[in-house]
Amino acid sequence: MTDQCIFCRITGGQSPARVRYQDDQVVVIEDLAPQAPHHLLIIPRRHISTVLDLTGEDSRLVGHVYQVAGKLARELGFAEKGFRVVVNCNRDGGQTVWHLHFHLLAGRRLRWPPG
Ligand code: AMP
Ligand code: ZN
Repeated sequence: MTDQCIFCRITGGQSPARVRYQDDQVVVIEDLAPQAPHHLLIIPRRHISTVLDLTGEDSRLVGHVYQVAGKLARELGFAEKGFRVVVNCNRDGGQTVWHLHFHLLAGRRLRWPPG
């Protein structure tokens, strides 16, 4: 937990967010600047800066994140049509918040390759 980190503040309940799901490992919020009709951020509670900082001990956490993505996709009704889970890493990947998070995007046909 770092006071300066916006996602630590949100998962710790110190900054406001539209929380759609939470459990002991992750908090899922609506993105402030949605890029699709559904744009959620699956945020691990533990501060991990980037995907490069994951270790073998985080395997269960990452598996859990994808299970939560599937659960939400079913509950929100876009599992069958489809969706995308994205992690941006560092400058060229477009990362702007240095607390690992997984974008869950759905509700429109997503382009490939991404811009
Ligand atoms: P990234 O560019 O992959 O690091 O993604 C950061 C995402 O966090 C962007 O899509 C932002 O719109 C979103 N974001 C930043 N601050 C907040 C916030 N306080 N509440 C919700 N979403 C946020
Ligand atoms: Zn953090």
